[in-house]
Amino acid sequence: MALLITDECINCDVCEPECPNQAISMGVEIYQIDPVKCTECVGHFDEPQCVQVCPVDCIPKDPAHVEANESLWVKYRQLQALAAAPTPTPR
Ligand code: SF4
Ligand code: SF4
Repeated sequence: MALLITDECINCDVCEPECPNQAISMGVEIYQIDPVKCTECVGHFDEPQCVQVCPVDCIPKDPAHVEANESLWVKYRQLQALAAAPTPTPR
């Protein structure tokens, strides 16, 4: 399951640099989480780092993106493979 930032977010900027998957970015008004990249920190940490640091506790699990632990591990491995792939050089 990916996580979700609610509109209680105060844009404190603390969570964005803590995400090991670069899944957090500034949205139109508040920060947002890309569910394609969020592994709930599986593969990196025991606990979701954004939840650990958020001062207003506004990062629940996203019911629209329910995933089993195995799926999160698959996502983690896919993200690692993408990160390791060489960048295509322009011709
Ligand atoms: S749970 Fe982990 S991977 Fe997901 S957004 Fe938070 S810090 Fe990033
Ligand atoms: S840590 Fe919480 S309040 Fe701060 S930017 Fe992230 S989601 Fe918003």
